[in-house]
Amino acid sequence: MEHIATPSWAMFAYLVSGVLFILALRGLSSPATSRAGNRYGMVGMTIAVVTTLITHEIAGLAEIVAALAIGGGIGWFTARKIAMTDMPQLVAAFHSLVGMAAVLVGWAAYLNPQAFGIEGVLAVAGTERTFDLPNAVGASVQVTHYIFGQSCIEMGLGIAIGAITFSGSVIAFLKLAGKMSGAPIMLPGRHVINLGTIIAILGLVGYFTQNQSLWVIGLITALAFIIGFLLIIPIGGADMPVVVSMLNSYSGWAAAAMGFTLHNTAMIITGALVGSSGAILSYIMCKAMNRSFLSVIAGGFGAAPEATSGAAKEQRPWKRGSAEDAAFLLKEAESVIIIPGYGMAVAQAQHVLREMGDLLKKEGVSVKYAIHPVAGRMPGHMNVLLAEANVPYDDVFELEDINGEFAQADVAFIIGANDVVNPAAKTDKSSPIYGMPVFDVDKAKTVMFIKRSMGGVGYSGVDNDVFYMDQTMMLLADAKKMVEDINKALAH
Ligand code: NDP
Repeated sequence: MEHIATPSWAMFAYLVSGVLFILALRGLSSPATSRAGNRYGMVGMTIAVVTTLITHEIAGLAEIVAALAIGGGIGWFTARKIAMTDMPQLVAAFHSLVGMAAVLVGWAAYLNPQAFGIEGVLAVAGTERTFDLPNAVGASVQVTHYIFGQSCIEMGLGIAIGAITFSGSVIAFLKLAGKMSGAPIMLPGRHVINLGTIIAILGLVGYFTQNQSLWVIGLITALAFIIGFLLIIPIGGADMPVVVSMLNSYSGWAAAAMGFTLHNTAMIITGALVGSSGAILSYIMCKAMNRSFLSVIAGGFGAAPEATSGAAKEQRPWKRGSAEDAAFLLKEAESVIIIPGYGMAVAQAQHVLREMGDLLKKEGVSVKYAIHPVAGRMPGHMNVLLAEANVPYDDVFELEDINGEFAQADVAFIIGANDVVNPAAKTDKSSPIYGMPVFDVDKAKTVMFIKRSMGGVGYSGVDNDVFYMDQTMMLLADAKKMVEDINKALAH
């Protein structure tokens, strides 16, 4: 690929794609507009790719088209096949590819800078090579000024952030997919090791501006792969959503750095958008869990679950109800607040749940859906499922908007949620979820709790006092089966 000074129409096209990406992010912020948002993003990306292909002399266009077809085909097939509950690990896997792409582009630019239009002198192991770079009108000019122009810092940082994103995302994928224990793995002295490695990487990136030897870039890459791994293994339990969104942010910054290296405006804009939106999302999620961003990065969350809860659990009394009992109480209620969680996604109970909501509304019951920011296994998980089942957006409320209403609610109907309604987060300082804001379901007159067994716990692995409250009725069954049975009873 040979770089030619970007013509003004191409700059305009990149600007248009940048605007479309902003519209895409805006659209994705609400389920009602998310499809339109996706389309803006697709059009923006098509414009960016086509513009890049037209404005560069591409050797091997056929290979590029073949690669696009193969990659696009795999992406299409995977996205169609994936279960909603496996989406977080899919996102983590995709981030790892973005990270690896940044590393490979960085290395390709290092090994073959002429092909990327990077002017300068390259000194490899003491020998100097000088490149010819075609200027805007196609005439060849000799470039003898310093190595890689200003690109050294961006190239080094891009490769480093890309490598961190890759190995970090692989660990996040393995943890989320259950192929590796989700528990934090704590190395002794890890803070010192991590900090030392990060400082070493930054120092090497600085040194890379002076010395472009293979060993410098090689060491940056190797250390970055290692630190990505070390940074994510101590993070466990309920912090994983923040990690996924943080890695999303890293992948954006890696792409932006590569955009500077390759002088590609669209890549800089896209990378910056992904980087900053991921960072904002991480911040919002930290706030939702009442965790500081630094403590998430430092890891170790959920390392030592309380040993006492297991023994106490067996002896405590609890009440079991049937679908008929539940239907009777729901019909009598004036207001019902439904709290969906991960189990609803597993059971795919959203459609029958919406039917239940409709049946209750016909009886004159006020029905609201309460969504916790980290319910399920990815940000927006519950919003997407409820939207898919055509639950009206006006019936869906965020945690802070509805939490005050539990005290007036007749029924808190918990379906497959657990951690997000666990009062230990408010009261038990030793709990791994302490500090996470949770729904005040204990204030409702009656609590109905759908889960499959008393033994099953939520993501953080801790027991839940709500099971044993006087006003709680445990509805033990698969969520879809239980709601179907409730619907049958309601219809009678
Ligand atoms: P939890 O993981 O706390 O609880 C899930 C509950 O669903 C369990 O009680 C389980 O009990 C029940 N369940 C599972 N399958 C079924 C089924 N087929 N039918 C009925 N019940 C079922 O879910 P929450 O949504 O409350 O909390 C989310 C947790 O995940 C939080 O700790 C959050 O931090 C974490 N997390 C969130 C991410 C995000 O971005 N949203 C990403 C990664 C983690 P049983 O087995 O007995 O059925």
